[in-house]
Amino acid sequence: MRLANVGGRAALITGDRALDVFDAGGFGPDPMAVLADWTAFTEWARSAPPGSVPVDPDRLGPPVPRPRQVFAVALNYPPHAAEAGFEPPADPLVFTKFPTCIAGPRETVELPGDRVDWEVELVAAIGRGGHRIPEERALDHVAGFLVGQDLSERRVQLLGKPPQFSLAKSFPGFGPTGPHLTTVDELPGGAAITCLLNGSVVQSASIEDMIFGVPELVSRLSAICALLPGDLIFTGTPGGVGNRMDPPRYLTPDDVLISRIDGLGELTTTFREGADRRFRPGSA
Ligand code: ZN
Repeated sequence: MRLANVGGRAALITGDRALDVFDAGGFGPDPMAVLADWTAFTEWARSAPPGSVPVDPDRLGPPVPRPRQVFAVALNYPPHAAEAGFEPPADPLVFTKFPTCIAGPRETVELPGDRVDWEVELVAAIGRGGHRIPEERALDHVAGFLVGQDLSERRVQLLGKPPQFSLAKSFPGFGPTGPHLTTVDELPGGAAITCLLNGSVVQSASIEDMIFGVPELVSRLSAICALLPGDLIFTGTPGGVGNRMDPPRYLTPDDVLISRIDGLGELTTTFREGADRRFRPGSA
């Protein structure tokens, strides 16, 4: 099952057609309200009629527009840990993307600095919340998966010693997600995860390469934080980010970034010069 945000309203997607879930079933219309009522919604959705309204891709918003918590995991693919100069971690390294950065699947993002970098990621969305969720029950708490981009301003990220991640990854538009929320059963095992910059592949891996898989992440995060319906978990990026290229390659105006996961679809993110492009940490 695929759930989308069409013009701010939750919609079930069948092929290229949409069904408004409030008009048809009384859930929502806000996608967050659908996630808050996830168990009842999924029971209804099993027998919902197919969509009949053509989907305009430009009207798709973030499937989970206002998560209360957004977790993100660093160094969760061995090649990315290696290119960043670290051993694979023994425990998940977790930071947050503040929720105001969440954006949709077709966005133009303003570049706030000259070292903005890409990180394609599998994103898990929580359906039923919980605290201390055992790993073997973890997927029961996941509503579905999205493609995500963990955009990062590396100058801000690497400013301090030790570096701090969260602010650098939370400028407006720095969390593109979508195109739909696809339920767990529809994500193929070993799905390819790919990022293309202006048509050239820059990142390519399998989601099975993750050091900590989604069930373990849900279990270990919820051992500490209570998880809430609609929370997002960015699960880390494969190798091939721009600041590890020689020479480094950062995003510039008019670049087109495509982020793709087999079975989930893709995001198209474009960039434009920001009014604050001269922004430098410490000069605000
Ligand atoms: Zn990341």
